[in-house]
Amino acid sequence: MGSEDVIKKFRETGALLEGHFVLTSGLHSNVYLQCALVLQHPEQAEAFGREIAENFKDQNIQVVASPAIGGLIVGHEVARALGARFIWTERENGKMTLRRGFTLSPNERVLVVEDVVTTGGSTRETVETLQAAGGNVIAAASIIDRSLGQADVGVPRIALATLNVEAVVPAECAACARGDVAIKPGSRKQ
Ligand SMILES: [Zn+2]
Repeated sequence: MGSEDVIKKFRETGALLEGHFVLTSGLHSNVYLQCALVLQHPEQAEAFGREIAENFKDQNIQVVASPAIGGLIVGHEVARALGARFIWTERENGKMTLRRGFTLSPNERVLVVEDVVTTGGSTRETVETLQAAGGNVIAAASIIDRSLGQADVGVPRIALATLNVEAVVPAECAACARGDVAIKPGSRKQ
């Protein structure tokens, strides 16, 4: 599965829309990404998971860990393909934490898996949380990289596909300047 195949699956399932959108951040973009729409198909989630796992099959990964909620489905599939455990981190009062009785053995070899890396912020926080819990975080991986390879998460990182998504403030939006109305995907009111 190449980068083009990944993007094609996103388009086919409506997980990647092209047009004129208002993002959650308030910025305007010509691309909207909603990974849940491709990951609602278990056979797709499994295929992405297998593809990510292929990159780490010789690295003796013992645990795959993902930040909730976005990373859960694909992380679980990566863990299945690697024969590893799967755990997740989640925010408690804004801070990324390991809850639910999840623990790591000292120096246990961990792979962090996300659906999308945008700034890398939540991935980095997840890496740090797992390191603080005693894990040896080997690498991080995502299906999509929206950072053009720029996101630094503190460990080596791979992605199945890189997406160049431009996001601009409305005042600098070319589509707005043409008089197009931006839509907010995923919301009922448009
Ligand atoms: Zn606009």
